Amino acid sequence: MHGFSYKSGSLHCEEVDLNSLATTYGTPLYVYSGGTITDHFRRLDEALSGVPHEIAYAVKANSNLSVLRLLAAQGAGFDIVSGGELFRVIKAGGDPGHCTFAGVGKTRAEIIYALNEGIYSFNVESEDELRYLNQVAGELGLIAPAAVRVNPNVDAKTHKYISTGKSENKFGVDFESIADLYERASNDLPHIRLRGLQMHIGSQLTSIAPFIEAVEKVTPLVRLLKQRHGIEFWSIGGGIGIVYHNSLESGAAGWWQQREGTDAPLTIERYGQELVPRLKDLGLKILLEPGRYIVGNAGVLLTRCLYEKKGLAKTFKIVDAGMNDLIRPALYEGHHEIVPLTEPASDERVMVDVVGPICESGDFFCQDRELPDFQPGECVALMSAGAYGFAMASNYNSRPLPAEVLVEGATARVIRHRQDLDALIEGES
Ligand SMILES: *Cc1c(COP(=O)(O)O)cnc(C)c1O
Repeated sequence: MHGFSYKSGSLHCEEVDLNSLATTYGTPLYVYSGGTITDHFRRLDEALSGVPHEIAYAVKANSNLSVLRLLAAQGAGFDIVSGGELFRVIKAGGDPGHCTFAGVGKTRAEIIYALNEGIYSFNVESEDELRYLNQVAGELGLIAPAAVRVNPNVDAKTHKYISTGKSENKFGVDFESIADLYERASNDLPHIRLRGLQMHIGSQLTSIAPFIEAVEKVTPLVRLLKQRHGIEFWSIGGGIGIVYHNSLESGAAGWWQQREGTDAPLTIERYGQELVPRLKDLGLKILLEPGRYIVGNAGVLLTRCLYEKKGLAKTFKIVDAGMNDLIRPALYEGHHEIVPLTEPASDERVMVDVVGPICESGDFFCQDRELPDFQPGECVALMSAGAYGFAMASNYNSRPLPAEVLVEGATARVIRHRQDLDALIEGES
């Protein structure tokens, strides 16, 4: 589910009218469906129920404190990639003992912070990093729990910027080198406790095959590491893809469902059915690190049309959100459905580019797309913007960050105020 549908001609998030939120809080505005976030978490938890597991939500997808608090209350752990994310998790009431720390470039300060907070595991991406972790832990008189990230050299068949499991990617340690590395570490690194093995082959995977390929390839290695080093967990990463095309729930009334070209859906039930039988006899705790799957379809970015410009070649709808608010289309050709908040009265479509105010030609949300002929003053929703949306927003062009609202049932709550101009120059002299 995702919690967005037309009711009485107006797009709603759960029981809340999005037109009224846009009027009350202004645009651009991120709106999240709390019910969708918890529903996705529970469905994944259920799909994996046949194997001992823990879901470590990938904080980088959407790190708002209220989103983290919602997931902590569901019993989620957290996969973090920086000291800042650990700080957020702790502020939101999350337990560092259920945090894994990923990333190729952890700094000394971040390592010390995470060691002192007692995180569950450092997911290490090179031998150099493992040795440095050992050294820092030794200085503090601590033992660092660690897993190495294996790069299984599997093609995730996703956009090249979000593929991470091939040998040419910067991530992880080559599959062939892992067993020897664990051997050296257990002999030479007294301040490391080898606790698990980690992998993550990429993001927005829309087919099950690469997941199966990676799990089957790495399983013998995992068995070996368990036998030799007593590892207790295997993190199989995140990367579960979501539907970006025609992304309003099927069955709900809406003009976009008649359109062709939906993504082949990788359902969470299928993910569980294929992977659980392959994992359940290992005698290990399976960790999952989903980000996009949990929050992607749970959020929209509301934006108001400012102007229409009919040029010689194209018609442009100029809206008040820009690539600084939602960079996915510019960064990796991300697709977002564009849906008027007021249900279109007719089936008429016009071919348009929807563009933002930023001084970059890459600042568009769609090009040459057939959309209802929404007019200046009207609002549209950029669908499926809950993951890597606000989290990647910037102040480029000195535009204040948008506000964020969390909806739960009939209640809407501002969970981040729109940045004001003073905040924009904070810390500058
Ligand atoms: C980004 C990331 C994830 C989450 O990826 P999604 O595609 O959002 O599920 C999980 N694990 C690691 C190590 C990551 O870097």
